[in-house]
Amino acid sequence: MTKQEVMEQGEQYLLHTYNRYPLVLDHGQGVYLYDNEGNKYLDFCAGIAVFALGYNNPEFNEAVKNQVDKLIHCSNYFYNEPAVEAARKLVEASGMEKVFFTNSGTEAIEGALKTALRYAYDRDGTNGHEIIAMHHSFHGRSLGALSVTGNAHYQDPFRPLISGIRFADFNNLESVKAQVTEKTCAIILEPVQGEGGIYPATGEFLKGLRELCDEKDILLIFDEIQCGMGRTGTMFACQRYGVLPDVMTVAKALGCGMPVGAFLCNEKAASLKPGDHGSTYGGNPLVGAAASKVLDLYQSLHVLDNVQKVGAYLGQKLDELADKFPKIVEHRGVGLIHGLEFSEPVGGIIEECQRRGLILINAGSNILRFVPPLVITEQDVDDMLAILEPVLEERK
Ligand SMILES: *Cc1c(COP(=O)(O)O)cnc(C)c1O
Repeated sequence: MTKQEVMEQGEQYLLHTYNRYPLVLDHGQGVYLYDNEGNKYLDFCAGIAVFALGYNNPEFNEAVKNQVDKLIHCSNYFYNEPAVEAARKLVEASGMEKVFFTNSGTEAIEGALKTALRYAYDRDGTNGHEIIAMHHSFHGRSLGALSVTGNAHYQDPFRPLISGIRFADFNNLESVKAQVTEKTCAIILEPVQGEGGIYPATGEFLKGLRELCDEKDILLIFDEIQCGMGRTGTMFACQRYGVLPDVMTVAKALGCGMPVGAFLCNEKAASLKPGDHGSTYGGNPLVGAAASKVLDLYQSLHVLDNVQKVGAYLGQKLDELADKFPKIVEHRGVGLIHGLEFSEPVGGIIEECQRRGLILINAGSNILRFVPPLVITEQDVDDMLAILEPVLEERK
């Protein structure tokens, strides 16, 4: 099909829940994507912080292909070795103790919320528990995950949503404390808010929440779906602050494109019992093999070292851009998750960069988001700037 045909039929047959860019992507190699007309794009989106290892990594592809020929699925009535291996590696990498595999980030959030409700039900034998979430958060689109997503635009058409959710201000411990009641069973937040505009938490805030939760027997849930898996330069963002949650959600880069997420918990929070929760596909051998190989490759490719090194370089270059262009209000970020907030919408910048061979995305209408593959080099950063900077120059 031609590009035009794919786009037309896409609009005819796919439900229009996304305003897609006029690109038909065909294949990828390293940090580059290619469209079906052979044009090449430097990719600073990585399928929304998913493709950490870059495209077409031969070891990853081989692991997935081998598992396809062996066994793709068997249900959770049985054990399978790839999922067990992946779970062990996740436990070792995170400092958590138990893993439940899901098919998406949203489902990992659902499991985390159920874990908290079940924990509190066991704690005091009552229902009607409450969860505190943050303004400007993003946790997914199912009714449970949407209920803790602090964005009225996403929530309003679907009310009443689930009850007992209270919202507080990110990085403001007093505002969280003001929402605590004896019904509170969990506090959920992203250590670096992603979709909400790339806001890293302060160490003080996370430590304060940890103390608050310990004191009141509340579960602390960290959503590491976007900021975890090495994106900030440590395996999980919370490890930078030395604060562990009771429940952690992971997805996006975990499968590097294979649909797998997980929620992890410590022994204390392992409240779900046989019959309480399940998934037909969750943790099948195919995604288990993928996640397991991803975790191995993080080690052998020294991904965290690369994020620290190239992340610092990218951060410095974005600081320089922010100094140079008055329309840039602020630069925020850490490791390889950065945002440039502009005083006006960034859609035009994104489209122009695309025409010149660079894929960038936004986080909110005014924020340019940088979430490249974690294997990029300083040269890739320079190549990105060689496209972005002239575009900014023209719009000064
Ligand atoms: C992407 C994202 C989700 C939802 O994950 P899906 O795989 O799209 O369901 C949840 N939380 C955060 C922080 C995310 O970035």
